[in-house]
Amino acid sequence: MRGPAFDVMSLLREDLHGFAGYRSARSEVATGAVWLNANEAAYPNAADEGGDLRRYPEPQPEALRGMLCGLYGVPAARLLIGRGSDELIDLLVRVFCRMGRDAVLVTPPVFGMYGVCARLQGVPLLEVPLDDDEQDFCLDLERVALCAERGAARLVFLCSPGNPAGGTLPAQDVLALARRLRGRALVVVDEAYIEFADARSLVAPGIAAPNLVVLRTLSKAHALAGARIGCAIAHPAVIAALRCCQAPYPVPVPCAERALGALTGAALAATRLRVQQARIERARLAARLGALPGVRRVYPSQGNFLLVRFVDAEAAFADLLAAGVVVRDMRAMPQLADALRITLGTPEQNDAVVAALGARVVAA
Ligand code: PMP
Repeated sequence: MRGPAFDVMSLLREDLHGFAGYRSARSEVATGAVWLNANEAAYPNAADEGGDLRRYPEPQPEALRGMLCGLYGVPAARLLIGRGSDELIDLLVRVFCRMGRDAVLVTPPVFGMYGVCARLQGVPLLEVPLDDDEQDFCLDLERVALCAERGAARLVFLCSPGNPAGGTLPAQDVLALARRLRGRALVVVDEAYIEFADARSLVAPGIAAPNLVVLRTLSKAHALAGARIGCAIAHPAVIAALRCCQAPYPVPVPCAERALGALTGAALAATRLRVQQARIERARLAARLGALPGVRRVYPSQGNFLLVRFVDAEAAFADLLAAGVVVRDMRAMPQLADALRITLGTPEQNDAVVAALGARVVAA
């Protein structure tokens, strides 16, 4: 009988059905006091103070997974930890798309990794551009659905809040898309910046469609980009398939420890405060940038960045660089020939951005 698990498993690459992946020493359940099954060193490295790096890590560190499940409100069977969302994007493409056949759909201008991973896997890339309607970049989900159906998309990547413009997608529309594409494609919603948004995560009410995958990360709001901890949250059958194909030990011990620390009471409370401050800074910086004569438009962002169109983006980029401020040049991206993306910094750094961009006006 067809059911949710059948629907998602039918999307898995056919040649991977029944594939169990690599069985690492750590994944074999065994008890004993003397562990001589993984060719680890008998003594710790002299520089390894705690001595705990001698051993391979747990493939999915239990304690960290428990904390992440608590944070996102999902059961363990629905969550996979990876080396940042970047690894999970790559894994999704490799596990669900057959080379040269199953397409990946993206909505440019958007985060580049979806397209990069499609290219690496040798799968067709379908593009449904966002519409710039003078207020914001908008996504026509009906066009996405049609394109996915006609182009045999296996994965549809959506980004909410979107990088680089920062707009969010209505949860109901995303769910409707997932339901429409059930049995045909996975809809992957990248929520790397959701903590900064007014909208709630799509995982908040529970994953409401079996072919919906939500990506979360500790890199942005939790300020742990260097620890490389991201999560895929999805139907247990999708999680199990991804896990079989993941590298044996994707979460280094020091990274898991630092991430655990960041998810405990005081650190978590501090993170929530920082997110609030970033939201306030976002409004303040957007208003100040919007008032500069050289600025054409500041997009209404729900992330920790602002996409800004300039009368002369080349000059704005150079002025910022001359002031020692490095922002992301977006001019090579479709529809963004006059745009820069500015990450929110501290209030002082944001003031420096405004000062550098305002100086040319004063001088003129
Ligand atoms: N998704 C989006 C939309 C991003 O902007 C980024 C980083 N720039 C990532 C994912 C990658 O996040 P991670 O550090 O978790 O790999």
